[in-house]
Amino acid sequence: RSFEDLRLPEPILRTLHAKGIEKPTPIQVQGLPVALSGRDMIGIAFTGSGKTLVFVLPLIMAALQEEILMPIVSGEGPFGLIVCPSRELARQTYEVIEMFLGSLMEAGYPEIRSLLCIGGVDMRTQMEVVKKGAHIVVATPGRLKDLLSKKKMNLDNCRYLTLDEADRLVDLGFEDDIREVFDHFKAQRQTLLFSATMPEKIQNFAKSALVKPIIVNV
Ligand code: AMP
Repeated sequence: RSFEDLRLPEPILRTLHAKGIEKPTPIQVQGLPVALSGRDMIGIAFTGSGKTLVFVLPLIMAALQEEILMPIVSGEGPFGLIVCPSRELARQTYEVIEMFLGSLMEAGYPEIRSLLCIGGVDMRTQMEVVKKGAHIVVATPGRLKDLLSKKKMNLDNCRYLTLDEADRLVDLGFEDDIREVFDHFKAQRQTLLFSATMPEKIQNFAKSALVKPIIVNV
């Protein structure tokens, strides 16, 4: 029931400490072991619950293992993808990831590259960055769909998917876009879905996106 129990790398523990994050919140206590176990998960949690760390930390842990096996080469798609309903949320999530990756780099860990793919960023600029390849991509659905359909990015090696604020993703009309994104996955994947509410529409969506999910409701 502490971050130390999760065998997180030292630089990550130090970063958490520096941010005043000492004691896991309920969604972290229940959700982190599930996410780390590789099972699909539905997390019913609001913004402010600490849900971001439930998908960010396991992804970084996986990236550290992956990095050793498979350093990213130019143009290679991500192995982890996080889809957010708004640019603002995507940016915040990306910044949390960058903070941890920065601390790992400083401590001499291998480079893990993350990338923010959102609308409003000039497509040409975006493509230049995408071309370099990234381990982790944080995206909004529209821009993601664009990059995939233009074959500027692929999900051939993508094995971790997080759908954050799924109720908002569906309410904003992104369901079909996201289903298109699913079609780009080639490998078996772990899917985590977070939502503040679970109306029938979201339950049905979750049913089609996840395999035998564990539901964490705090
Ligand atoms: P989130 O719900 O993931 O958007 O997190 C909301 C805020 O809570 C962020 O500013 C986090 O840095 C902070 N936070 C996340 N986990 C913890 C924790 N275990 N203890 C204190 N603050 C936290």
